[in-house]
Amino acid sequence: MTQTYLEVHNLCKTFTAKNGSVEALKGVSLSIGKGEIFGVIGLSGAGKSTLVRCMNLLERPDSGDVLLNGESLLKLSKEQLRLRRQKIGMIFQHFNLLEQQTVLENVCFPLEIRGIPRKERREKALELLDKVGLADKANAYPAQLSGGQKQRVAIARALMRNPSILLADEPVASLDPVTGRQILCLLRDIQRQRGVSILMNSHNLDLSLEFSTHIVGMNRGRVVFDGAPGDVTEAVLRDIYGEAAAV
Ligand code: ADP
Repeated sequence: MTQTYLEVHNLCKTFTAKNGSVEALKGVSLSIGKGEIFGVIGLSGAGKSTLVRCMNLLERPDSGDVLLNGESLLKLSKEQLRLRRQKIGMIFQHFNLLEQQTVLENVCFPLEIRGIPRKERREKALELLDKVGLADKANAYPAQLSGGQKQRVAIARALMRNPSILLADEPVASLDPVTGRQILCLLRDIQRQRGVSILMNSHNLDLSLEFSTHIVGMNRGRVVFDGAPGDVTEAVLRDIYGEAAAV
């Protein structure tokens, strides 16, 4: 059996706005094993992003627990949480690069804020840029790159602290299908070579089924499917997407 690396138990999260409240997560539990690619699928508004953000405590759940390697993140001090978070890399839909900094500076950033010497962080960043196929773009600025290249920079940056798990929030939603597929191939190579676990949420069903080793289907804040991609039947799709599955 695969060893569990990141798990959440009974996560609940409600957002309150002026015009009412939204229960984004209604008791979500799941376990991500070491080296798995965990695809979270569901319609817009199902709670996928909130789940990812709660796993990293970018968003604090109202109740439930998040365990990293068996340890509850919710019980840690700020400093302990900062250290544990180094094991969790994040990749976002809109890349979140620093526009005024070069590609190399962007990738160096996570080690720069930790005070790692310039030479050491540059060597590591150049090695990772080579890994993601952007060795020749080290001195370019984000505005000079395509969307796919920007996401490669973000992936290199996420790997700088040797994470054990990557959380990818709609990593290919801003990319065309061909580029999106190339990015998922890169993530799969990284998972295979480094043994990192990856959780990625996506509204692209076909790509999720193709690249994930495990699928979680969400509908209105609940997990309605948790299993192998090969077990995602028509009936499962109806549970996840409702009427939209029939279109
Ligand atoms: P998904 O990623 O599946 O599209 P989200 O997690 O972004 O879903 O959103 C789940 C629900 O929570 C939606 O109804 C959304 O409008 C609501 N929501 C998410 N973030 C916030 C927020 N910061 N404030 C208020 N409502 C939010």
